[in-house]
Amino acid sequence: MSEHLLEVNHLKKYFKTNKGTLQAVDDISFTLDAGKTLGLVGESGCGKSTTGRAILRLTEPTSGEVLFNGKDVAKMKSREMHQMRMDMQMIFQDPFSSLNPRKTVAELIAEPLKWYKIHKSKAEQASHVSKLMETVGLASRLTNVYPHELDGGRRQRIGIARALALDPKFIVCDEPVSALDVSIQAQVLNLLKELQNEFGIAYLFITHDLSVVNHFSDDIAVMYLGQIVEKAPAKELFNNPVHPYTKALLSAIPIPDVDAVVEQIPLKGEISSPINMKPDCHFAARCPYATEECRAGVPDLVNRGNEHFVACHLF
Ligand code: SF4
Repeated sequence: MSEHLLEVNHLKKYFKTNKGTLQAVDDISFTLDAGKTLGLVGESGCGKSTTGRAILRLTEPTSGEVLFNGKDVAKMKSREMHQMRMDMQMIFQDPFSSLNPRKTVAELIAEPLKWYKIHKSKAEQASHVSKLMETVGLASRLTNVYPHELDGGRRQRIGIARALALDPKFIVCDEPVSALDVSIQAQVLNLLKELQNEFGIAYLFITHDLSVVNHFSDDIAVMYLGQIVEKAPAKELFNNPVHPYTKALLSAIPIPDVDAVVEQIPLKGEISSPINMKPDCHFAARCPYATEECRAGVPDLVNRGNEHFVACHLF
């Protein structure tokens, strides 16, 4: 039995399109322990959101295995699946589009409690909702207001309260702060961290912005065109990035650690199409170090020590 809360093995998610097969997620593996955060970072279209959705079975994986508490999610019976749906939740990027505009704050937060018939009486449910509002920092005077009356930060707090309602063990946070102002981003990140410390929740934190996950993640995995190209403990990845793509992403942000020496690699060109990809290093078209070897085969993700994994023929 797996000792990890979440274990993802060789997960693939392909889509058939008119132009061929879109390899959104192409054979990725990682683990996540209770109370920890894995930051999943990459540009738009790299497959990170599809990874989160495939883990939660919001989209059916093409192949691979997702073990939650040691159990294969694909083989769960309906009762186990019911519990799994409570334990694994999601916070979305755009809270506004994920909230029914005709429901009040209290009604929106009560929805998951109703779906899962958690309470026998309306009074119990109302008390639970008000506790959840307090937990995520929503004032009680907002109980009967509608989402359009709130700013983005408060709307995201509704999304967090809904995700917390069923006492989950694991939450996929899909770009939860990218639609928010920078000052509000910090508040929401602090709230998520506090909730993790209090309730021991594990996060898969999906973002296009490495700077957001720097102090938030225990480990960081960098994705490029459906594959993980580098994975390491967060500090190690920031202080000693190895893959040219990770270095390029880091080049774009100010590094707070004055001792860190990061090679500057400007990221040129657009991410290539994920349809009918060749069996090569998918970063080769943008990589200043690409050789014939890079175009001849997909580099394996290899542990270079200190749990620092890199997929690059240079190493
Ligand atoms: Fe660049 Fe080659 Fe490494 Fe890919 S395998 S990142 S193309 S050096």
